[in-house]
Amino acid sequence: MDFTQPWRGSDLILEIENKPLHVHKNILSIWSPVFDRMFNSSFVEKNTEKLSLPGKKYNEIEEMLHIIYDRRKYVTESTAEFLFSLADEYQMEQLHAVCVAYLKNVPKIGVKVCKYLELAMRYNVDEIKEECLNAVDKLTAVQLDQSLEFQCLNDSIKYTIAKKRTMYLEEQLNNYIKHVDSMLNYLYSSAHQSLELFFTELGLEDSVFNKCDQHEQHRRLRAGLKFDYSCISCRKRVLTSRQFKVTASEISDILESLYKLNIQNSTTN
Ligand SMILES: [Zn+2]
Repeated sequence: MDFTQPWRGSDLILEIENKPLHVHKNILSIWSPVFDRMFNSSFVEKNTEKLSLPGKKYNEIEEMLHIIYDRRKYVTESTAEFLFSLADEYQMEQLHAVCVAYLKNVPKIGVKVCKYLELAMRYNVDEIKEECLNAVDKLTAVQLDQSLEFQCLNDSIKYTIAKKRTMYLEEQLNNYIKHVDSMLNYLYSSAHQSLELFFTELGLEDSVFNKCDQHEQHRRLRAGLKFDYSCISCRKRVLTSRQFKVTASEISDILESLYKLNIQNSTTN
């Protein structure tokens, strides 16, 4: 389709960047109430044969005309953004719908999803917004941070992404902590039992297991309770015991790393 020459009774010349595009008023009117008002009101454009569109890009308006005149033309990744914008400016519901259909069908894979999310949010396409947000969740923070697509998003969208991710990670982390905690309790109780046996045999039981700063509190909690598996100080006693390092060499390093993590992330003892 060639808009550069008069064709099939074209009755209007759009002038953009000093170049002409030959079109039909009635077709533009059908697609856009904004054009319709221009042609059917007392505006100066009513009888004009030339309509200047200052500030518009020639190739963008030409692409828009291709979509309007030829329904076989598709929205593409490089045209979606300005077509959405033109649909918005000229109140072209059908063109908006064509753009939404493009967003719906495009595969939501990789960092390009950021771009689709931005379009969906800017032009209020709610059903696609959610799908894009879910696809963004599949990308790592490093992938996002290194992509131009993410950098170009406005702060409000970045915040939405970061908030969703933080809440998800928080929930996952809490689940892990719960399971790791019960595993740790089991390991410390086993370690404690074998240590207690070992020290009792040497007659050192009291001197070793009364060392916890909190041990009076443990006793108050339950009579005779010298050792509490959830007590940081008690755990440290197990970890620093040379005997434990020997008898549980396979897990002592893991437990020590977990202990340090716990200390780092605790605000209280
Ligand atoms: Zn303790």
